[in-house]
Amino acid sequence: LFSIFVGASLSSFPEIISQLQKTAGATERIQEILGETLEEEPSSGRPQLLDSGEVELRNVGFHYPSRADVRVLNDVSFIAKPGERIALVGPSGAGKSTVFSLLLGFYQAQQGDIFFDGKSFKDLSLADTRSSMGLVPQEVLLFGGSILENIGYGRPGASKEEIITAAKQANAHEFIANFPEAYETTVGPRGIKLSGGQRQRIAIARAILANPKILLLDEATSALDTASEKLVQEALSHLMHGRTSLIIAHRLSTVRDADRILVLQNGHIVESGTHDELMLRDGAYRILVETQLESTSTLADSQPAEV
Ligand code: ATP
Repeated sequence: LFSIFVGASLSSFPEIISQLQKTAGATERIQEILGETLEEEPSSGRPQLLDSGEVELRNVGFHYPSRADVRVLNDVSFIAKPGERIALVGPSGAGKSTVFSLLLGFYQAQQGDIFFDGKSFKDLSLADTRSSMGLVPQEVLLFGGSILENIGYGRPGASKEEIITAAKQANAHEFIANFPEAYETTVGPRGIKLSGGQRQRIAIARAILANPKILLLDEATSALDTASEKLVQEALSHLMHGRTSLIIAHRLSTVRDADRILVLQNGHIVESGTHDELMLRDGAYRILVETQLESTSTLADSQPAEV
């Protein structure tokens, strides 16, 4: 489970850390991340954002610092070309979230290297690289404040008009406009309770506003009702368009749409290809499809529709 809060530009860390604190047993990780954060160099004005958004892992090997005996990633290599949609699938514990943690610079690989736009991560500014990435987590947690602020956090300084445009693209405008206080509605722990699908669309609006070159999407495992699912999927398609997208995928529809699927098992990429190619191979992917990936077409239609 990769449930760090963000859904947008990753240049600001207090929220990530406060959300991590809510994750059971995350203390050690918080310390590690704080350690990383403190090392982050002060920003020198405007961030040097990535141009194309190409991502490459080359022979990456990794173990968590606290568990040197457990190799979590082993010789992992792949390239995501600018604008490509890559789905990561594999059983629980295979290392999918760890790939995201390395891309976000929370940890450094002990073997191999990561490249963005052909440049080694080691030679790039951590803050700038993170600013080029957007993360939509599985469980979206909103902070206490208005909907306007929650979306606007994606790009500090954005105008209300820009925020509304992003909300429209994320299929969120309609439900927001239906609240008596519309964009001024307070959400978060003391505010109005939004449904899972509505929270996801807020996070998508935030990410659209942030306009990152690279998108890391940890797809929700919990099923939404069919109407909400459709609105979220539409919003996600909009968000992914033209961006390099890496998706930890749980839905069959998502992997079918991916340009390439990487099947991770015990920290290795055991198969890679399109859905059709991998189904023909009759191997690990086919087993996952038959046992694990959720087919949205079979989602309960009986649940009340949400808009
Ligand atoms: P899931 O689908 O269940 O989220 P995953 O494929 O994303 O699984 P990871 O979360 O990347 O898998 O975990 C890979 C391995 O690394 C697992 O064995 C896990 O127990 C271990 N692991 C994950 N986070 C840490 C950590 N902070 N410290 C030590 N070990 C960890």
